[in-house]
Order: sequence, then structure tokens, then C-alpha cells
Amino acid sequence: MKKETYQNYINGRWVKPKSGAMIENRNPADKRDLVGLFPASQGEDVEAGVSAAIEAYPKWKATPAPKRAEILYKLAQILLDRKEQYSSDMTREMGKVLKEARGDVQEAIDMTFYTAGEGRRLQGYTTPSELPNKFAMCVRQPVGICSLITPWNFPMAIPSWKMMPALICGNTLVIKPAEDTPLSTINLVKAAEEAGVPAGVINIVMGTGEAAGAPLTTHPGVRLVSFTGSTDTGRIVAENSARTDKICSLEMGGKNVIIVMDDGDLDLAAEGATWGAFGTSGQRCTASSRVVVHKKVYKKFVEKLTERARSLKIGNGLDKKVEMGPVINEAALRKILHYVEIGKQMDGATLHLGGNRLTRGNYSHGFFIEPTIFTDVEPGMRIAQEEIFGPVISIIPCRDLDDAIRIGNDVKYGLSSSIFTQDVNRAFKAMEQMHTGIFYVNSSTIGAEVHLPFGGTKGTGNGHREGAMVSSLDIFSEWKSIYVDYSGRLQKAQIDEFKIAK
Ligand code: ADP
Repeated sequence: MKKETYQNYINGRWVKPKSGAMIENRNPADKRDLVGLFPASQGEDVEAGVSAAIEAYPKWKATPAPKRAEILYKLAQILLDRKEQYSSDMTREMGKVLKEARGDVQEAIDMTFYTAGEGRRLQGYTTPSELPNKFAMCVRQPVGICSLITPWNFPMAIPSWKMMPALICGNTLVIKPAEDTPLSTINLVKAAEEAGVPAGVINIVMGTGEAAGAPLTTHPGVRLVSFTGSTDTGRIVAENSARTDKICSLEMGGKNVIIVMDDGDLDLAAEGATWGAFGTSGQRCTASSRVVVHKKVYKKFVEKLTERARSLKIGNGLDKKVEMGPVINEAALRKILHYVEIGKQMDGATLHLGGNRLTRGNYSHGFFIEPTIFTDVEPGMRIAQEEIFGPVISIIPCRDLDDAIRIGNDVKYGLSSSIFTQDVNRAFKAMEQMHTGIFYVNSSTIGAEVHLPFGGTKGTGNGHREGAMVSSLDIFSEWKSIYVDYSGRLQKAQIDEFKIAK
């Protein structure tokens, strides 16, 4: 069978990496299925990408924002027209079930339409000056050249969260997708090319984090680095970016919690926990990896969750009946199984369900793990503190709401949390006191919509929010304050005294 070979996209042309080296990408549900060969780029390819972005910048910046928006509208329509193809490509390259892959592509469509609307706003504001005959206003301006470094778990949605606001603000960019999921980003970039994004405005350089990602964080021509991935890598990205004073926006890990109160709808909570913990095989930064359950309903909740988890159909996500796919690769599989051992041996929690790799029949060709439930988990155990990024959930008992909030907040991350309760007082108290960037009532920790800020507190990020217009424009634009003095004299702020007439 012919091996599909893909190339970098630099200055409007699809080009081989300079070294000619390629990386094989295989379907995690079936390693026999070769998705394609993708560039193993290095510093020299990043150099070419950044140079193209620098060259294209003045013209793109000078293109009126409503005109930039027209291209984004076209792009959104192309994504919509090709949704099925892009979704099955995504399932094949990263394993999430087709229904979820469709959701991922839909999020990119939503983000693109939504951001295009901003082309006719991009609002700054005017405000009175403290001096007479003087006008004051501020406007957004592009930041310049952006490096976008993205992970594999939302291979089209996350690139779109970064790319669309970057483009509407008038920036040019180089994107480096995760080595496990380059195809979905290629699909996005090809659609952008077709929609009419000019040469050099978007460049894609593929390869490993160290060889192709790191140079994007150190290049002196780059002004902004927008990164989504693990907290450990994010810290390296931040350190590298700081050396050349780059703006750096980080979206990192989570250890999200569902709180289940004794008055909560237990069927709904079990459904929410199943979706939150085992959807995308638990590989979402917002995955519900902990459930803190009131001790009065603990046993009942565990029974309901176990019943749901046991019935999940696991397999190749292209099969419509499958509800949970594989994990992304061998290293992830090993890491998750290692955490199962930690839970059993070191932490001393009870392995209530699952915990094994599936190896029967077709499973042997992929990286499949059973949905795994730990019970009798104590809040300080490693499985309740560290991000496992797999289909593993820890069920922790609590005494009351205060106890639940304390346990919920006592981790180093702060992305998403939720509560199941029928009591509005409890819901509002948790809403106020959970120190996370996202909070849900009577829902799982999953389900962000593009027009609300996305991001987290503590070890999850460095204070930025993606999605939503104001917050993402704040990442991808810089304010310029403008003073227009029409008094005909040199007026001095804070020094000239304005006398109020009597
Ligand atoms: P994950 O565990 O989700 O794969 P990573 O943080 O390792 O998270 O990867 C997220 C993205 O960061 C990927 O595109 C990866 O290639 C890239 N990356 C990894 N190491 C570095 C690095 N040192 N500098 C820049 N990017 C990196």
C-alpha cells in the first residue's frame, strides 16, 4: 500500500523538512494502520516558518479586520462542509470515538464563525482625558509573530482556539501540532489555504517537541507563544519564552472534581462521571478524574457508576457502537498502568473495577485500557493528586459540603469542577468557593463552549483565558493608548492643574 506522505506548509508552499526525516504516525486503535509519514522538522525548518511569518506580517496587519473576517467565514464554511472527513481522520489518528471527533471539529467550526464576527468589532474604547481639549482612546493592535504549540487530545479544536483569534487580530503565525496528531492540523491549515489566507500568514512545522517546538519558544523573531499541554512542558516553554521577553500563554493540566451531595440526582451524577472520566478515554484536561461523594450516598453512587462503566463498549472509535477508544500511544498506556499500580501498592486504595490493558483479539493491535475505578481513596493519595490522563477515576468519601470543597480545592491544579445537588444554597456556595476557572452545576466537568473563557487557576495556567472574545483578544492583541491634544499648548498630565470655574 502507498504510504501517504505529508509536508510542512511554509510561505504558501507544501515543503519537505530540510533534513528529509519523517515520523510515522499510526492509528492507536490498530497499530497496523499507518496514517502517514509526517515531517520530523528541526530548527532550520522553524527558521523558514518564522521568516515567512515575518515577511507576511506587514500586509496581513494592514488588511482591514472585516476583510480578514471574510476569509474566516469562508474557512468556517469549508470546515462545516468537510466535517465528516475531518472527524474520521481525527478518530483514525488519535482514537477518540467518532461522535467526540465530530464534537472536536464542530468546536473548530464554532470558534471560526464566532471569531469571524469579531472582525467588525475588535473594540477599543474612548474615555475622558483629565485635561481640557484633549481626547483619549485605546485600540487593540496585533502582537506580531505567534508560535502556537498544541497537544494531541483536541487536535482541531485547540489549534482553532489559538489560530482564529491570532488571525483576526492581524498576527501571523507558525503552528506546531503534537507529533501524534498532525493530520487534523494539516486539514485545518489546508482549509485555511483554500479559504484564501495569504501565503506566510499561517505556517505549519511538524515534529517533536524538543526539535521543532523548543526553537519556536526561543526564536527572537517570535513575540508570543501560546501553548497547551502538560504542566511540566509548559514550565519549560515559559522559561524559554521569558529569555526573550515573549508574551506567553499557557493552558496546562487538571485534576478536576465532581462533588456529589446526598440530595443529588445519583443517576445523573453517575452518567456525568462516566462521561467525564471515560470520554476520550479520560484524556481531556477537564476530565473528571476525582469524584467526592457524600458518605450517605457513597455506596449507592459507586454501584451506579460501576454499572455504567462496566457496560461501556470499548474499541475502534470508527465503529459507531463504540463508546470508548484507545489511549494515545504506548508511553501513555504504560504511564496509566503505572498509576494503577501506584493506586494499589503505594496508595493502598481499593481497585474496584478494571485496571488492565485489554489484549484479547483485535484489542492486541491497539492501546486499550479498561475503565478503571478506585474506591476508598483518600484525598492526599497520589492517584487523587496527580494527573493520570487516562480512564481512571478516584472516588473519595466526604462528610458534608465544606469537607467536599476542601478536598476539591486541595490539589495543585484549578481547571474545572462541578456539583450535583438539588439545593440552590449548596450550589451557590460551591460555585463561589471552588477555586477553578470553570464550574458546572448538575453536569460533568466537561462541556466548555467557545464563547466563554476557558482556562484555570493555580498549576493549570498562567492567568490567561482562551475562548470568549475579550479574554482571547487580550492574549493575541496589545493595547495602544492614544492621546490627541487639540489645545494648541503643551499640557502636562498630573502637573497642570485644571481650575473649576466658580
Ligand atoms: P502531552 O503530554 O499532552 O503530549 P506535552 O506538553 O508533552 O503534552 O506536549 C504538548 C505540545 O508541546 C506538543 O506539541 C509537544 O510536541 C510540545 N512540546 C514538548 N516539549 C516541548 C518543548 N521543550 N518546547 C516546546 N514544545 C514542546
